[in-house]
Amino acid sequence: MFYSKRNLHFNLYEVLQAQELNKYAYYEDHSAETFDLVLESAEQIAEKMLLPLLTEMDRDEPQLVNGRIKVHEGMKPIIKKFGDDGWINATFSYDEGGQQLPGLIHNAAAFIFQAANYSASVFPFLTTGAANLIRTFGSEELKATFLETMFSGKWQGTMALTEPDAGSSLSDITTSATPTDEEGVYKIKGQKIYISAGDHDACENIIHLMLAKIAGGPAGAKGISLFVVPQKRISENGLEPNDVATAGVYHKMGYKGAPIAHLMMGAEDNCVGYLVGEPHKGLSYMFQMMNEARVGVGMNAAAIGTAAYYASLQYAKERPQGRSITDKNPANPQISIIHHADVKRMLLFQKSVVEGSLALLLYCSKLADIAHVSSGEEQSEAALLLDFLTPIAKSYPSEMCCLTTSAAVQILGGAGYTTDFPVEQFYREARIHPIHEGTTGIHGMDLLGRKITMQNGRAAVLFFNECGKTIHDAREIPTLESCASELENSLRTLQKVTNHLLGIAKMGDTEAYLADATLFLEMTGIIAIAWQLLKSGVVSQNALNSETTHDSDRNFYNGKLAAMNYFFAYELIKVEGLAKRLQEDNKVTIETEADWF
Ligand SMILES: Cc1cc2nc3c(=O)[nH]c(=O)nc-3n(C[C@H](O)[C@H](O)[C@H](O)COP(=O)(O)OP(=O)(O)OC[C@H]3O[C@@H](n4cnc5c(N)ncnc54)[C@H](O)[C@@H]3O)c2cc1C
Repeated sequence: MFYSKRNLHFNLYEVLQAQELNKYAYYEDHSAETFDLVLESAEQIAEKMLLPLLTEMDRDEPQLVNGRIKVHEGMKPIIKKFGDDGWINATFSYDEGGQQLPGLIHNAAAFIFQAANYSASVFPFLTTGAANLIRTFGSEELKATFLETMFSGKWQGTMALTEPDAGSSLSDITTSATPTDEEGVYKIKGQKIYISAGDHDACENIIHLMLAKIAGGPAGAKGISLFVVPQKRISENGLEPNDVATAGVYHKMGYKGAPIAHLMMGAEDNCVGYLVGEPHKGLSYMFQMMNEARVGVGMNAAAIGTAAYYASLQYAKERPQGRSITDKNPANPQISIIHHADVKRMLLFQKSVVEGSLALLLYCSKLADIAHVSSGEEQSEAALLLDFLTPIAKSYPSEMCCLTTSAAVQILGGAGYTTDFPVEQFYREARIHPIHEGTTGIHGMDLLGRKITMQNGRAAVLFFNECGKTIHDAREIPTLESCASELENSLRTLQKVTNHLLGIAKMGDTEAYLADATLFLEMTGIIAIAWQLLKSGVVSQNALNSETTHDSDRNFYNGKLAAMNYFFAYELIKVEGLAKRLQEDNKVTIETEADWF
C-alpha cells in the first residue's frame, strides 16, 4: 500500500464536499461518479506503470550520452499514456481539448502518482504548468504552434529560471534576449541550471518557458521577460536544432529518475525565443506557474511522506522484536514492534503530519478551483486566502516530510538504512522539497514580509476567520472542546507574535523583523495543520457518534482522532516555544559576524 484511498475519499467527499463543485457552470458535467472514475484510473496507472519502476529509476539514473540526456526507457510509454489519456490538459476547457476537471481532483490524482513514483510523476505535470503559461499569456500563434503537441505528451514543458548566480534572487538573471527583425522573436543567450526535465529522450522536443532580460529594459525583477524557447524549432522541414545545448546532467541524492539539466543557449548565436505576453512582465507571469507548482511541491512531499508512512506501518506490524514492558518472561513469544509506545509515537507523528498536510493541500486546491470559476467576493476571498496559504502549503509538508521519512527509516531500524527496503529512498527523495520552488527561507520572508500585511492584513483575517469557524464547530462536540480551546489559544499567540513583529517593522528595523521569518512560517504552519486536523476531527467524531456508521469504518475514524490528538499534544505545543523566541530581543543571528565562524 503506497497511499490510502479511504483517506483520500474522506478528504474529498466528507470534509471538502468535492461533489458540490458541480454547482459552478465550469464543472457542471462532473459528479462524484466522474471523480471516482478519474481517481480509479490514476490508481491503475500508478500501480501498473509507475510503482514497478520506483526502485529501478532510482538506481538507473539519467546519463548524458553524446550531448543528450537518456532517461529510463519506461518513461516514454508513461508520458505517452499521460498524453493519450488527457492528463496533461485535464483541467483546461473543452474548447482547448480539456475535460474541465477540477484542480482538486487533478491534484488528488497527482498525489497518487507522486506517492507511487515521484520522479516519474513530474514529467507530465511540468508540461501542464508550462502549457498553462502559454495558454494564459501567449499569442494565438504561440498557442497554435505549441499547445496541442504539448498536451499530447510528444513535447515536454519546463520552467527555466535558475542561473548560476541567480537562484533565490531571480532579479539577478543575466540570460539576454535581443530583438530580431521579426516581431516577438528574440535571440537568446545565456545559461540555466537545475532545469527539471530540461533535456531527455522520452519526448521529441522540449519547450522551455524561460526568463530572460531584454537589453535596455528596467533593472532588476522589473526587467524580466518570459519566452518560449524550444529545444528544436519548427521549420518547413520539421524540427531543427535551436542552439540549446545540454552542458550536463546533475547527479542527485534522490529524485534520481528525473533528469535535471544544465543548459547553454546561443553559443552559436542561433537560439530563438518567442516573447510571451508583454515585455518585462515575465516574472509576474511566471508566478502563476510557480504558485501552482508550490502547492504541487507540497503535494509531492506529502505523497512521499505518505508512501514512507505506509511502508513503515507494514514493517511495524510484521517485525517481531522484544516484549511488552510489563512482560518479563523470555519464554513468551516476541511481540510486533507496533505494540511499543515509542514506535506508535513515530507512526502517529508520520500519520498526523502527512494526513494534516494532505488535508491542507487539498483545501488549497479547492480554493484554487473556486478562485478560477466563481466571481465577486467569493472569488476574491478564495484567491486571497490561497495566496496567504501558499508558502505554508509549500513549506510545512516539505520541511516536515524530511522528518517523517526519517521516522520511517527509524522504525525499520537497521533494515531502514539498507536498500532492501524503500524507506531510505523516500528519505532521500523528500529532501529536495525545502529547496526547489523557493527555499523555506524565501517562503518565510514571503509570508511575514508580504502575505501577512497584504491588503491591510485582509488575507490574515480570512485565515483567522476560517480557523474560527472550525473552532466553533468543534465546540459543539464535547470531546473536542479542549482541542478547540488549544487552537484558539495558539491563534491568540500568533496574533500577539505578529503584532510584536509588525511593531519592529514599524520602527524601521527590517532586518530584525525578518531575521526569524522561517520560524514564523514554522509556527503558522503548525497552526494551519492543527486547524485541518481539527476539521477532520469534527467530521470523524460526528461519524463515530452516528448510529449509521458502519463498524468497519470505526477504526478509520478513531485513527483520525488519534492523529489529531497526537498532533495537539506533541506538535501544537511547539507554538509557545517558537512564540517565546520570536518575541525575545535576541539578535544573535544578526550580530554574529561572518568572520566568527
Ligand atoms: C533537483 C532540482 C530541481 C530543480 N528544478 C528547477 C527547475 O525546473 N527550474 C528552475 O528554474 N530551477 C530549478 N531548480 C533550482 C531551484 O529552484 C533552486 O536551487 C532554488 O531556488 C535555490 O536557489 P540556489 O540553489 O541558487 O540557492 P541560493 O539562492 O544560493 O540559496 C542558498 C541558501 O541561502 C538562502 N538564501 C538565499 N538568499 C537569501 C536571502 N535573501 N535571505 C535569506 N536567505 C537566503 C537560501 O534560503 C538557501 O538556504 C531545481 C533545483 C534542484 C536541486
